[in-house]
Amino acid sequence: MMIPFNKPAFTGKEEVYIGEAIKSGHLSGDGSFTKKCHLWFEGQFNVKKALLTTSCTHALEMAAILADIQEGDEVIMPSYTFVSTANPFVVRGAKIIFVDIRPDTMNIDETLIEEAVTARTKAIVPVHYAGVACEMDAIMDIANRHNLIVIEDAAQGVMSTYNGKPLGTIGHLGCFSFHETKNYNCGEGGALIINDERYVERAEIIREKGTNRSRFFRGQVDKYSWVDIGSSYLPSELNAAFLFAQLENAELINSYRLDCWATYYNGLKVLEERGDICLPFLPKNINHNAHMFYLKAASLDERTHLIQFLKQKGIQTVFHYVPLHSSSAGLEYGEMFKQDVYTTKESERLVRLPLYYNLQIMEINQVIDAVKEFYIKGAL
Ligand SMILES: *Cc1c(COP(=O)(O)O)cnc(C)c1O
Repeated sequence: MMIPFNKPAFTGKEEVYIGEAIKSGHLSGDGSFTKKCHLWFEGQFNVKKALLTTSCTHALEMAAILADIQEGDEVIMPSYTFVSTANPFVVRGAKIIFVDIRPDTMNIDETLIEEAVTARTKAIVPVHYAGVACEMDAIMDIANRHNLIVIEDAAQGVMSTYNGKPLGTIGHLGCFSFHETKNYNCGEGGALIINDERYVERAEIIREKGTNRSRFFRGQVDKYSWVDIGSSYLPSELNAAFLFAQLENAELINSYRLDCWATYYNGLKVLEERGDICLPFLPKNINHNAHMFYLKAASLDERTHLIQFLKQKGIQTVFHYVPLHSSSAGLEYGEMFKQDVYTTKESERLVRLPLYYNLQIMEINQVIDAVKEFYIKGAL
C-alpha cells in the first residue's frame, strides 16, 4: 500500500456547489459563491476586506502593486521560502534582501530585520512557515518605526493565530493560498486580506484589470473604464464554489489535521528524546493549523537515506526549499543580509511527512513505525 505525500482535501459538498454554479449561469468571477467566500473570511477573521484571487502568488502581486514597489526599492523576507514570496516584488523592480531564519520555527529571525532596513526598504514580507506564526509584534514594531508596509505571506497560515489574532490579519496586507497542497483548496486559488482601509478601493480596481467595475456594479459610477494598472486576478465561480465547500468545513478539516499532527508528534517524540531527530517547535503565543509535519534529520546525508528508506516502504516524503538567495534568480535579484547561518543548514535536514485531510490514523502509524525502524533498528 502506497501513502502519497498529499491528497487534495475533499469534503463532499464541492460537486453540489459546482453544480449550483453551473445552473446559475454565472461562471465568471464575483458571483454568489465568490461573495459567500468573501463574507466567510470577513466574518471568520473579522477583517475589513477579503478578495479571492487566482493564487497566492497573484495576491502577493496585488500587494506589491498596492505597496507601490518601484525599481530599486528593497524588500525584506526570508530566503527559506517558496519562489512566490519573492517573484511578485522582483517583477516590480525590487531588490530582495534575504534575512536568515530562526532554527526553531524556520521563520525569519525577527532580531535581524531592523539592521537590514535601509533608506530604500519599502516592505517586510514575513512567511508563516508550516502555519506557525512569525514574531509579528516585533515585526510590526520595526515596520511602524521605519514606515514600512508589512505583507504577510500566510499561504500556509489559514486558521492559525498569533496572540489570538488570525494570520493574514496582522500586517497591512495578508495573502492566502488555496493550492491543492494547502489546508483548504480549490486546485489553484488565493485571497488578498486587506487590513488597512487605505488599500481597499485600489485593490478592487487592480483585481478587475485596472477598471472601476466594482464601483460600477455598486452604482457608485455610471460607467466603468480603465483607471489604473491591473490584471485579471479574480477566479471563476467554479473555483469559488469548490472553495466555499471547504471553508464551510474549515473547523472539521482543521481539527482533523491537528489530530494527525499530534499523532505524529507523540509517536516520534521518543526519537527526539534519543537525540536522533528534531521535531517542530511551537511558541507559546501561537495556535497552528497543522499545515505540515516535518522532522529534521542529523544531516543532508541522513535525510537522503531516510527518504529513500521510506520510499521503499511505499511512503512518499518531500523536502524543500532550495534557499532563494543561492538559486540562480535569487543571485540576480537579491542578496543575503549578513551570514547564512541557519537557512541552508536547516533546510538540508528537513523532511515533510504525509499530512492531509483523508489521511488515516492507521497510515500515520505506519509512517511512524517506518521512521522508528530507520533510526532504532539501525537501517542507517
Ligand atoms: C504555496 C505557497 C505560495 C504560493 O501559493 P500559490 O497559491 O500556489 O500561488 C506562496 N508562498 C508560500 C510560503 C507558499 O507555501
